[in-house]
Amino acid sequence: MISHLSAKVNELLRMSKDAVVRYCKLEGLPSIQIEYSLELTSKKFAGFVYTARPVKIVLNANASDRLTNMSHKDRVWWLNNYIAHELTHYKQYLLLVRNKLVINEKSFDESEATSVGAMYADSVINKYTKEQINPTNLYKSFHGNNPKITKISYNPPKEGEHLISIGLVENLVYKPFGSSQRKGTLYTHQFGDDGEKMHPGRMILACSEDGERFYLIKANSKAHMTDRGIIK
Ligand SMILES: [Zn+2]
Repeated sequence: MISHLSAKVNELLRMSKDAVVRYCKLEGLPSIQIEYSLELTSKKFAGFVYTARPVKIVLNANASDRLTNMSHKDRVWWLNNYIAHELTHYKQYLLLVRNKLVINEKSFDESEATSVGAMYADSVINKYTKEQINPTNLYKSFHGNNPKITKISYNPPKEGEHLISIGLVENLVYKPFGSSQRKGTLYTHQFGDDGEKMHPGRMILACSEDGERFYLIKANSKAHMTDRGIIK
């Protein structure tokens, strides 16, 4: 059902699914199986469908558009508010069922859901780190586009393995390639002691014990990658 949705919407749904699991755990709610659907015709912004099993999170097209265009922070707040709000209704629903009461729209306490939703979303945002609220896309800010290859094969040192220090890196020279906006630009960085001058920040070139893997180790260096390349 959701396979045709954009990557952004899929990410949104994944986030809301995680938020549902977290909230159910926190509130001791019976774990609910969630199914997402995109209802293009529905006038409702969004909502849960309680009476169906599995419980559905319904997002209409407007909701998806609005959510995908929000800042990340607003989106996290909105999603958590929405989920805590709707799960408060779910709690109310369970109570109504338990007490064999009539269930219609009026049986739900809207003000309770509204305040619980906002309070919960605030608490989630307050726990977020700056980076989680505003994730920087380092690849894009440097290369100007999104990565095509998202997986790289990285072999970290094995547990207890000693790396062999080869030497201080004096120069680091690289050239972005492919569809990067910086394709062909030659970046040169000088590090460490070159015999005449002490450059701030050192990097060590090391290899694995079998000589098969190479590592660049930040030693006593503040060097870090930015949207302008490596700075020290
Ligand atoms: Zn409500």
